[in-house]
Amino acid sequence: MRIDIITVLPELLEGFLNESILGRAQKKGLVEIHVHNLRDYSTNRWRRVDDYPFGGFAGMVMQCEPIDRCISQLKSERHYDEIIYTSPDGEQFDQPMANTLSLKENIIILCGHYKGIDHRIREQLITKEVSIGDYVLTGGELAAAVMTDAIVRIVPGVIGDEQSALNDCFQDNLLAAPMYSRPKEYVGVDGKSWGSVPEILLSGHEAKIKEWEIAQSLERTRQLRPDLLEK
Ligand code: SAH
Repeated sequence: MRIDIITVLPELLEGFLNESILGRAQKKGLVEIHVHNLRDYSTNRWRRVDDYPFGGFAGMVMQCEPIDRCISQLKSERHYDEIIYTSPDGEQFDQPMANTLSLKENIIILCGHYKGIDHRIREQLITKEVSIGDYVLTGGELAAAVMTDAIVRIVPGVIGDEQSALNDCFQDNLLAAPMYSRPKEYVGVDGKSWGSVPEILLSGHEAKIKEWEIAQSLERTRQLRPDLLEK
């Protein structure tokens, strides 16, 4: 799959996208992520992409032309399944949306800044508006990073063990079971025991461990997120 991110702050995204699992996914050729500097599409001699809002409101608004030029250029090169605008009033991003988007071939994510973008862009070019939560950020870059991370990690092959993304939180509307690693018994810095790992996990009995995992998932979901069980 291919993700094109349009931003006025490409350097904010580049470090994040090129490290760790996302970086490796690109090197392995499993995903292509391209970051476009919106200022490259400005026709203004100072590379401006924003202007005062009509109506005398405070702040600045991102203008139609640079965004139109950038998205038109991308659309002339390939078909896009979704052109997403990150926006606090958009549909709430969640695991099912990440799953759906991870099956797409090509998507664009447009990051807003300042007071947002000229509303006509949303009407003419955007096919989906997505919020990462009910709070307001200074720009859409963190939202684009969050979405890209969640989408790319479930593209087949990106996480080593194919199974490992399937038992994460929110797949099947369940929270994940607790995980333990070595040592079996840990004594804290203060000298007190932190208890030992559940015996069943040391048994090597695959079916029983699976049963334990499901029971733990259900119990944690019932306690912490009962709303998920109603879905
Ligand atoms: N005036 C706008 C907020 C602008 S914030 C309003 O009240 O709706 C600047 C930019 O940050 C937005 O254009 C959007 O792209 C991004 N942004 C802010 N909060 C966000 C959120 N919760 N989810 C996704 N993007 C967000």
